[in-house]
Amino acid sequence: MADLKKAVSIAVRALSPSKPHHAQWLITRKCNYRCIGCNVWKEQDNNELSTVEVKKGLDVLKKIGVVELVISGGDPLLRADIDEIIDYAADRFVLTVYDNGSMAAKKINALQKADFVAISIDSLDEAKNDAIKAVPGAFKKAINSVEKLHKEGVRVAVTPTISQKNLYEIIDITNYFTSKGIPVWYCLYTYDTSIDSNQLFRIGKVNDDFVITDKQSMINLCNQLIEMQKKNKRILISTKILEALRALYEEKRIWKCQALKNFLVVDHLGRVSGCHNHNYLGSIFDIEKKWNSPLYEERRRVYHDCTQCNYLCYVAYSLYSGPRSYASLARDQWRNAKLLFK
Ligand code: SF4
Ligand code: SF4
Repeated sequence: MADLKKAVSIAVRALSPSKPHHAQWLITRKCNYRCIGCNVWKEQDNNELSTVEVKKGLDVLKKIGVVELVISGGDPLLRADIDEIIDYAADRFVLTVYDNGSMAAKKINALQKADFVAISIDSLDEAKNDAIKAVPGAFKKAINSVEKLHKEGVRVAVTPTISQKNLYEIIDITNYFTSKGIPVWYCLYTYDTSIDSNQLFRIGKVNDDFVITDKQSMINLCNQLIEMQKKNKRILISTKILEALRALYEEKRIWKCQALKNFLVVDHLGRVSGCHNHNYLGSIFDIEKKWNSPLYEERRRVYHDCTQCNYLCYVAYSLYSGPRSYASLARDQWRNAKLLFK
């Protein structure tokens, strides 16, 4: 019955026009990894919202119409109250929880409620993966987590970040996991450029080894994945997103950014922005009041013309706009969501 209630509530929100569809809440800045393409671990902060405040914030996101929520960090599973937060969020949203692979195996009960659990593995070569994460044993832990979660019926997926470092391995990684029944979707390596001196927080760190220089191979990879995902339903990326990615490496940007319209981000202190590359515009607790304000409208126009980043989640939620489009996104992306399976 709880699932039916959630499905109805989500359908109503998904079909309402002029609402943000997707939110990413980076609920903690704490991380136990040291990934060489990431800034988050360098800028950790022990301050974060309390459990009660996070729950209040989740209510606000639901009220403004958010359908899909990603909980990430840092590593969100490092929060002591994460079980309670997942439980609360899973009743309200199509919920994805990220983990670097170090914690999920210890949190199986809590993760049972999530629609997706995304675990990052960047190479099947153990030494290479561990070098990217800068933590010995990262690969073994991640594989152990993926296998345990899968065995226990948690909807776990593997999310490699595509970069020059693993470009030629992406097909192998995809085949390896999907042949075991584990879905795969992708992040794309990119780094923050200073477009706003007060940017909300930093994620991608410049690392020349990661920047994709072999553009033709990237285009070929997109073509291969477009073909593969027609037959392999465990490849959770849509043709539309892959076509946009392919065009990007052909020097064409075929989307306009829809930050603060289709999606928004919230940081560990509850500050809200269209994306993490820009300064915050207020708190999650006053977003409802400000959603249609002149300030937000002005920022939407700025974001709309911005071409500064290619973070794949921002690209995806810029490509899909409006109830009809969200329905096709649901069809393409939620194939494994618990909600839809029941
Ligand atoms: S990429 Fe994720 S796991 Fe790695 S340091 Fe950054 S926040 Fe931590
Ligand atoms: S393109 Fe969009 S998501 Fe990227 S920095 Fe600009 S406003 Fe932010």
